[in-house]
Amino acid sequence: MNHVDPAAIDTSTVAELCAELIRIDTSNYGVDPRTKPERPAADFVVDFLKKYGYESEIYESEPGRASVVLRVEGSNPDLPALVVHGHLDVVPAISDNWTVDPFGGEIKDGYLWGRGAVDMKNMDAMILTVLADMKTRGWKPERELIVAFFADEEAGGVLGAQWMVDNHPELFAGATEAISEVGGYSVQVGGQNVYLIQTGEKGMNWMTLTANGRAGHGSQVNHDNAITKLATAISRIGQEQWPIELTDTVRVLLEKVAELTGLPFSEDPDDLAALVKELGPASPFVGATLKTQANPTQLDGGYKVNVIPGVATGAVDMRPIPGTEDKADYIIRELAGSDIDVTSIVRTSGYEVPFDANLVDQMSAAILAEDPDAIIAPYLLSGGTDNKSLMQLGITGYGFVPLALPADYNFSAMFHGNDERVPLESLEFGTRTLARFLGGVR
Ligand SMILES: [Zn+2]
Repeated sequence: MNHVDPAAIDTSTVAELCAELIRIDTSNYGVDPRTKPERPAADFVVDFLKKYGYESEIYESEPGRASVVLRVEGSNPDLPALVVHGHLDVVPAISDNWTVDPFGGEIKDGYLWGRGAVDMKNMDAMILTVLADMKTRGWKPERELIVAFFADEEAGGVLGAQWMVDNHPELFAGATEAISEVGGYSVQVGGQNVYLIQTGEKGMNWMTLTANGRAGHGSQVNHDNAITKLATAISRIGQEQWPIELTDTVRVLLEKVAELTGLPFSEDPDDLAALVKELGPASPFVGATLKTQANPTQLDGGYKVNVIPGVATGAVDMRPIPGTEDKADYIIRELAGSDIDVTSIVRTSGYEVPFDANLVDQMSAAILAEDPDAIIAPYLLSGGTDNKSLMQLGITGYGFVPLALPADYNFSAMFHGNDERVPLESLEFGTRTLARFLGGVR
């Protein structure tokens, strides 16, 4: 039982703390040598925590590729531990496309600007601010916390969360649930704030397609042309019309939208499109969760106009509906045809977790304490997060980075977008809500 009200947390420093994290460039280019290591950001986190008496540990999967983990004692030892995690890396930013320095951490016009402002140094800073407040004012989280700041999320977590789960599963022992990106933010539907808690993720299947043929002179007859074979397969895949497959999560969300707007709910594609549109800035997120998507994303073949190459390659980014991963993989191979070699380079299963859960009730209670008219709804994420790795340890992952957002702010466009920024008020709302949630205030 806390005698301190976690909601009375001082949130005046969270934006500057987030700005400091943004100024540490942790651009993740994948295996490309331009990738900046997370180590300086990890050191910053460890030093910050040390000031408040926390001992945290750095784990490197490769030199410089650093994740930070610490445990925080809970006030109720009967409850299982909760993982609270963020990632330290960000996607790269081309500064010519920005109106501010992407790594400047500028605060102006009521926003904090910079790469990572929403994805997800905002949550990193919110977590750190709440941990600092626990020590400053003397309160404990209700549940024991396992706090993690992972490397490499933006390249699939191979050198971050996945590496930690494979090499240090003991760090997560005793945890049953996790919270992280991407959920807990508000959209306006029918004039009301609807907070979307992420309760699932689509699967992911990144594939390379290879066509082999007979190399030769561009002037000769050649019915075994690798480029023609690959292009035919890629165009079949790109044009495939996938069926609508509503998961429980998507159904509950769209039924809620129908209720709030008076629009009809049915599986008719036009009805569904109208409901998705009502979600405004979140509609690109939700619109991609009604069916499997498979987008051709790369093509490579040939080196000279008068030479038929012996090989051509392409890539497809497929995001199957959870539970249909094997079927979707089979369909891609059928579409590609027997001439094409299809190889999965990254493949993860999607998942859906219960919306009707204690933890979701606590998220709702924390949000409602800040925004009494709020409506809470589940949603399925079309992308992937580090929660997928933790799921392998039996830890149920939710997306909960609480942010009350203004109606004219295009949240989904901020993710990996130019001029990424977060409203200062949203950061402060999020910090208070996170403190309430972790403190167990009802
Ligand atoms: Zn992210």
